[in-house]
Amino acid sequence: MKQEADVIIVGAGPAGLGVAVALRACGMTDVLIVDSAGVGASFDAWPDHMRLLTPSFFSNPFGITDLNAITPNTSPAEFLRTEHPTGAQYARYLRAVASYYKLCVDAGITVTGLRRAGREGGIELKTSAGKMRGRFVVWAAGEFAQPSAGTLRGAEIGLHSSRIRDYKELKGAEFAVIGGYESGVDVAIRLMWLGKDVSLYSRGEPWRTHDLDPSLQLAPFTFDRLQAALKDASGCIRFHKDTGISEIRAADGAYELVDERGLVHVSATRPIIATGFSGSLGIAGGCFDWKEGAPVFSEEADESTRMEGLFYSGPQLRHRGAKFCFIYKFRARFGIIAREIARRLDLEWEEPLKAWRKAGFMNDDLDCCTDCRCDVEHEEAAHV
Ligand SMILES: Cc1cc2nc3c(=O)[nH]c(=O)nc-3n(C[C@H](O)[C@H](O)[C@H](O)COP(=O)(O)OP(=O)(O)OC[C@H]3O[C@@H](n4cnc5c(N)ncnc54)[C@H](O)[C@@H]3O)c2cc1C
Repeated sequence: MKQEADVIIVGAGPAGLGVAVALRACGMTDVLIVDSAGVGASFDAWPDHMRLLTPSFFSNPFGITDLNAITPNTSPAEFLRTEHPTGAQYARYLRAVASYYKLCVDAGITVTGLRRAGREGGIELKTSAGKMRGRFVVWAAGEFAQPSAGTLRGAEIGLHSSRIRDYKELKGAEFAVIGGYESGVDVAIRLMWLGKDVSLYSRGEPWRTHDLDPSLQLAPFTFDRLQAALKDASGCIRFHKDTGISEIRAADGAYELVDERGLVHVSATRPIIATGFSGSLGIAGGCFDWKEGAPVFSEEADESTRMEGLFYSGPQLRHRGAKFCFIYKFRARFGIIAREIARRLDLEWEEPLKAWRKAGFMNDDLDCCTDCRCDVEHEEAAHV
């Protein structure tokens, strides 16, 4: 097994593989991707019913790359023949990309620590397979492994939505769902089609929000499904707007949900927590500076301002208050990271990355997205 490489990428999801392909385009061959499970493992772990909300469409020949693609010239829609891939389907697309570009992926290696290497330079990784050293490291370990309940007290009594494998196995006729954004509304829709009654609690009223930024409102896919469920499903839904839940507690065989005003709502079944995923960087968190609860990345290349040579790719990326939380957003920096590493290795990047620039995978206009919904969601999670 290889213990050293010019570039080690931690995580073989879209963020890690996308950077790897851009590096490969610049002629970098000594690139190793390590993953505790394997290519697309997070997506393989999705329950069968989950689908990507962002639509895939084969618009590449007309200069608009499929929104879920991780390279300028591939398309999940074209490869999978579906608009909203399931996790398993999208993982199949990622494996096809890894295989086509002959990316070197070592599966079954978990990174448990990072530090500056000593005299040799670069960054040393502590892993389940011993020490490894990369001249550069790209942290792309995702967030799916870290479900979050924000500051909700008693969250351990509830059930996080990402842990539901089969809705038919949920016993009971009435359910309380905490969190009214994509995952909460998705849970509610599924339960309604099973004839269950749902109480949906949320700060604000996200199911009614209209905004020009697609991240600031329910995905059209979700909105269509909600309309269909409201019209035809046998279950019903009660929307509780402006009702952030701060605590869950067990009481006499039922559950009490205490809202921020101190009002108590009762649920006969285990409350479902749909407040998303943790905004942390996991074990790499200490290698980055933090400001106001968010990690800081260099504007030039999404590099740690604390550990030179450590880059970040993925949904935790933030610049100027904007969070690059979807694939079509964080892929906009794949070319930027590759360019910086290529420059430092004295490799040609301008011509090789032309397709990345043209397709919007090399965006250095950091005013591209402001006031992002993921930030709102983050706040929501912190105040549920
Ligand atoms: C239900 C649902 C629907 C979604 N819909 C959309 C959508 O429509 N559009 C969209 O753009 N995004 C969507 N997302 C978000 C999207 O899935 C994530 O943004 C994306 O997976 C992030 O990619 P990533 O490569 O950073 O992380 P991941 O895909 O999670 O990959 C990270 C990889 O790192 C590995 N890893 C983790 N820790 C370690 C470690 N310590 N050592 C070694 N390996 C490690 C994991 O095994 C994993 O393979 C959705 C998410 C969910 C849950």
